[in-house]
Amino acid sequence: MKLKDQIAAITGAGRGIGRAIALKLAQEGANIVVSDIDLELAEKTVTEIYEIGSKAVAHKVDVCNYDEMNQLGEKALTAFDRPLEIMINNAGITQAKNIFDITPDEWDLMLNIHLRGSFFGMQMAGKIMKKTGKGSIVNMASVYGREGHPLTAHYSASKAGIIDLTKSFAKALAPSEIRVNSVAPSVVETDLWDLGDAQMSKLKGLKKGQAKEERLKQIPLGRSAKPEDIANTVSFLVSKDAEFITGECVHVTGGALMV
Ligand code: NAD
Repeated sequence: MKLKDQIAAITGAGRGIGRAIALKLAQEGANIVVSDIDLELAEKTVTEIYEIGSKAVAHKVDVCNYDEMNQLGEKALTAFDRPLEIMINNAGITQAKNIFDITPDEWDLMLNIHLRGSFFGMQMAGKIMKKTGKGSIVNMASVYGREGHPLTAHYSASKAGIIDLTKSFAKALAPSEIRVNSVAPSVVETDLWDLGDAQMSKLKGLKKGQAKEERLKQIPLGRSAKPEDIANTVSFLVSKDAEFITGECVHVTGGALMV
């Protein structure tokens, strides 16, 4: 129970990695604001959290919407009568597309969800945490934000931006002892990766599943990540065990990226 009675908000927590993070932080004793653009999915995660004996509340948030993002902090205070201490900017989408075919709308959506969403999530949480003098933020990046990729240029750029924004906020908030880190997974077994694989396989003239197989061959530990692998890392980063880590991007890639 490393996070006993702490208040956490997670975006995109209705399924996949966000759901796994919500369950893990709840197992560690945190109370969770489960936010997602899909309220029904968020409510399912809340039910699971109650089943493991912790408290949670569902909240519909489109991370591109500034007002909805700002309400997350108030939602935490109203629900649990305590200010936000942990903020996880996780919501995301994917799209594999040739660099010459990405449209302005697709570019804007990708950058808005990842970069704008994480920026205003950090801004909202940072303001609250500066007042209370405690808190920790984790942003979901990607190994593609380190490497770039010819079929995910907009996705990769948005994730590289998240890694950099993390450092800016870490520097700005360090005097208040608030830590800000990012996590960069490679292949995680979720709906997002299935979609990415389907799109990428098609673009490469491969059968569904083959793009993923190619990627898995580049992972020294020989398997894809489970959402829980990422959740365990996030749980460590927001805990006291990581109290001297800030501005870092932690690669959870099974060795696919070693720097
Ligand atoms: P997922 O598609 O399984 O889940 C994403 C969740 O985000 C969904 O519940 C969805 O409803 C929600 N969401 C989408 N748009 C939203 C918006 N505008 N506002 C609020 N919520 C929104 O995806 P996942 O694999 O769990 O991905 C989570 C994060 O991890 C993303 O940021 C993704 O880029 C990152 N990531 C995933 C992988 C992977 O292999 N799955 C690898 C690296 C990074």
